[in-house]
Amino acid sequence: MPRLLSILLLAAVAVFFTSCGTVSETNVKDTTRTFTTVVVDAGHGGKDNGAFRRFGGAEKNATLDVATRLASKLRESQFHVVMTRSSDVFIPLDERAAISNRQKNAIFVSVHFNDSGRRGIRGFETYYHSAAARPLAYRIQQQLMTLPGASNRGVKTANFRVLRKAAYPAVLVECGFLSNRTEGAAARSANRRDDLADKIAEAIVDQRYGKGTYRAPASTADAAATSSEHGN
Ligand SMILES: [Zn+2]
Repeated sequence: MPRLLSILLLAAVAVFFTSCGTVSETNVKDTTRTFTTVVVDAGHGGKDNGAFRRFGGAEKNATLDVATRLASKLRESQFHVVMTRSSDVFIPLDERAAISNRQKNAIFVSVHFNDSGRRGIRGFETYYHSAAARPLAYRIQQQLMTLPGASNRGVKTANFRVLRKAAYPAVLVECGFLSNRTEGAAARSANRRDDLADKIAEAIVDQRYGKGTYRAPASTADAAATSSEHGN
């Protein structure tokens, strides 16, 4: 069957070129069904405020709080959790990726809040770079959409440095716009930040063990408050 053979050859060549076309794509290990470690990355920090808005305050503070709560919930779900930062310090993007890449059998989740010059813009976005991270990105977005008042800006691919440099499936979650009155105010609410962390944690546990396996901790607000007090 020379014809079938040539079709197969063409397909193989196409796959080869597609994977070469995406930076580091071939080096990403698909750990989405086996991971034991979650690297939680609180966006920005130290001299890097991230977005800074009247409604939402500094992005670096909101990301650290959500990330700390997320870490605590994931530990309760028996994951080994590594935070790229647990206080208000500046960590370069390459170092964040390197911290993750040093782990065994991990995934990487970066927490951010969004910003726009147009106040009306709002909603959740989840980004990924390698195809291996796509299912996790969709699960996180889907879970966030169950929150009251949630608005969907979709799952997207992006060439962000922390995603591009990742040896493991990596996603970046934009937990709402600080530039929007409603979402900015929500970002300042401890309850809402705990809910955001809870939905992300649920998506991660679902991804690893199957839908419906997440048991929400009663409240991690106290644990998060304690760890941020001792964070510096
Ligand atoms: Zn950010």
